[in-house]
Amino acid sequence: GSRRGSIFFGPVNLEDREESSLVDYYDRGNGIVDGVEGTIGNTPLVKIRSLSDATGCTILAKAEYLNGAGGSPKDRVALNMIRAAEEQGLLSPGRGDTIYEGTVGSTGISLAVLARARGYKAHICMPDDMAIEKSDLLHHLGATVERVPVAPITDPGHFVNLARSRAKEHTASSDTPSHGFFADQFESLANYTAHMKTTGPEIYAQTGGGRLDAFVAGAGTGGTIAGVAKHLKEERGLTSLRVVLADPQGSGLYNKIRHGVMYSSTEREGTRRRTQVDTMVEGIGINRITENLEAGRPLIDDAVRVTDDQACRMARWLVEHDGIFIGSSSAVNCVAAVVTALKMPKGSRVVTILCDSGTRHLSKFWKHIAAMGLEDETQKQDEDLLAVLGLENL
Ligand code: PMP
Repeated sequence: GSRRGSIFFGPVNLEDREESSLVDYYDRGNGIVDGVEGTIGNTPLVKIRSLSDATGCTILAKAEYLNGAGGSPKDRVALNMIRAAEEQGLLSPGRGDTIYEGTVGSTGISLAVLARARGYKAHICMPDDMAIEKSDLLHHLGATVERVPVAPITDPGHFVNLARSRAKEHTASSDTPSHGFFADQFESLANYTAHMKTTGPEIYAQTGGGRLDAFVAGAGTGGTIAGVAKHLKEERGLTSLRVVLADPQGSGLYNKIRHGVMYSSTEREGTRRRTQVDTMVEGIGINRITENLEAGRPLIDDAVRVTDDQACRMARWLVEHDGIFIGSSSAVNCVAAVVTALKMPKGSRVVTILCDSGTRHLSKFWKHIAAMGLEDETQKQDEDLLAVLGLENL
């Protein structure tokens, strides 16, 4: 059926103010959008010239950091989760409802912005090793923030479990109709369906009707890779598309996809599972299969492991050669896109995701890059990306 009129693709009608923000936010045809919701989606697909030149392929990156609410692909997810909750009556403006979420940052920021825009409060639980600018931003957005020590997912103090129990406490203790809503990005299927309904179709349209050979993305919840893969492979029938998981060092997903066993790079088969992923990369890399990842797992063809060192060098390279300033998960995606391109015929089109801006990673990732003193080195090896990434022998 026609997408016009659906929640993601409806036309903007300036006369009709009634609940138009949810209905209309996806059409920027006339350049006017209805509220902050209208700045979500329709992000550009950027050809990255330096990576394309170095690989002989076309590397295209979806500039998700340009989503205008929280500056990441999580804007799509947050809006879809809130919308679903509103439809089910779990969230209602003017009732004092609060959105609770466990997040490493991006989803919390998107939820905090949309909560403000739609009449809710936000309460965010996050691990205390994430970059400080994320929790600072959440404070400025008026969210309540709990930074908690890193703990295994089986621990009630794990940031996701804490958010779930805080939501329950809210609903139970409230003597008003006020409700605590646990957004649950890891298990809520409104996460991957947001990408299936929006990110996937945008990529399909932007590549001239699915003219792409590979899609490369990391998994934090798995929503992006699952939703995009489901749209392109199942809904559009692009069965020969290669879907590749970009996995940071220390994450167990690489082995799960390649060998069917969940154990991380820093341990041997048969040893105790690590609960913490040993990487400075924020937002991707986990040691469990979430509902969202499971939805797309059968469609993932391969995985590429990326070291922190490669991610740092890629981030520096992109600033120097392309003027693109990104965070750590985007850098992992770009390294994995290059590795994928090198294994494909020349001229292939590889699509990946730029998740968030480097400005959200100044205090950790970019500070580390500065300390590595890479400027001189990249100038020396100016023309050789593969040498910079240690991929000459691939
Ligand atoms: N990059 C960043 C910065 C993120 O915060 C996240 C989500 N945690 C991702 C990438 C991964 O996206 P997804 O959850 O859809 O797998």
